[in-house]
Amino acid sequence: MNICVVGVGYVGLVTGACFAEFGLHVTCVDKDAERIDGLQAGKIPFFEPGLEELVQKNSREGRLRFTTDLKAGVEGSLVVFLAVGTPPRGDGSADVSAIEAVARDIAAAMDGYKVIVTKSTVPVGTGVRIREIIRQELAKHLDFDVVSNPEFLREGAAIEDFMRPNRVVIGASSAQAIAILKDLYRPLYLIETPVIVTELETAELIKYASNAFLATKITFINEIANLCEKVGADVHVVAKAVGLDGRIGGKFLHPGPGFGGSCLPKDVRALAEIGRQAGQRLELIETVSRLNQCQRARMVEKVATAVGGLAGKTLAVLGLAFKPNTDDIREAPALDLVRGLLERGARVRAFDPAAMPQAARVLPDVEYCQDVYEAATGADGIVLVTEWNQFRNLDFAPLKAAMRQPVFVDLRNVYEPRRIRELGFHYAGVGRI
Ligand code: NAD
Repeated sequence: MNICVVGVGYVGLVTGACFAEFGLHVTCVDKDAERIDGLQAGKIPFFEPGLEELVQKNSREGRLRFTTDLKAGVEGSLVVFLAVGTPPRGDGSADVSAIEAVARDIAAAMDGYKVIVTKSTVPVGTGVRIREIIRQELAKHLDFDVVSNPEFLREGAAIEDFMRPNRVVIGASSAQAIAILKDLYRPLYLIETPVIVTELETAELIKYASNAFLATKITFINEIANLCEKVGADVHVVAKAVGLDGRIGGKFLHPGPGFGGSCLPKDVRALAEIGRQAGQRLELIETVSRLNQCQRARMVEKVATAVGGLAGKTLAVLGLAFKPNTDDIREAPALDLVRGLLERGARVRAFDPAAMPQAARVLPDVEYCQDVYEAATGADGIVLVTEWNQFRNLDFAPLKAAMRQPVFVDLRNVYEPRRIRELGFHYAGVGRI
């Protein structure tokens, strides 16, 4: 089967490469000519473990190609996936203008029956809107179906998540479209992946509800962590014991500087806006968004307290990406932290294994370093923000020797407080004394 994927970002490129690996012929389309040129030469526009090999292999074997020509991609493809961005607008709602623009272009390029599938995270009602747009724009009558197939992959583990998802959600009302989608995902039946078939609107909401729940879980444990600091309890032990309850589960119960990334913050805000527009305020979800911002501000305060005021101090910030194994800095907690430190008169020296080029574009006043030890030189404190594996086994003796004062602020609770204190550091974590 031939398919087309429009939008070659994290989701689109992983989707295209993985479907090609399943044996389909995939044309990936993006309006960014530079990105397409790079991909045609086997160059991946962002860091994602295993993706380069997968793209190169499937391109070599003739199942994966890249173009800026949407018409060429749509013609001859039975299924067209939309994987363009849906960034937040000022009011928090999702901006679906790229989705709508692509829907119009698809209508102009259609040469027969197509299944148009949204993989992007889109507000409830977008599928119906796409159907209207295509109907209006079609020059002659052609059959088509619109399907919602939200994506749940995590950056940094995207290929594994796509190849071994917890579930596949298919939202559609046409039996033909459902059968085609099921056929696409047939390789996953071998590993008994649950497939949820439902209506468009329900599928669209499943994605937002999933991300909002994850964000709520993180915000919950951050709130408990903040209480732990006041009452002298250890949030790790609390989280472990709470998470052992089968009804709760231990995942996403790690306290830290607040959730970030290209999805959770924007999807939580967008869901709150969907609620407002539907006349059903989602007060819990609105609060989660607000508390997450508070948690970020709290981290600046934590660093200030640990180093004895920020003015004139130098901080070594370890990790800028919103999580390990990615170079994505969209809504990364490190951005707010660094801005907060700079605003209050501190100097920031930073190191991240992958995200420094991206960070340099938005944080030009930071000194970017070659490694942790260079970042720590002359610093009044080290702040661990992203728990890359490289930061899990630091050599504390040379760090201490290089620093002006030995302060370690561990925003991911990677280290055992007592151990770091025994090495002569002042240690501050999140939710543990
Ligand atoms: P991205 O910003 O990395 O990529 C979007 C791509 O779409 C870019 O390459 C851009 O050039 C292209 N594009 C935009 N308008 C276009 C147009 N009119 N025609 C052709 N190409 C166009 O975005 P992403 O992170 O891959 O996210 C895409 C969608 O998937 C979003 O809705 C997001 O919420 C959702 N999602 C993302 C993740 C994730 O981890 N990144 C996970 C699940 C779902």
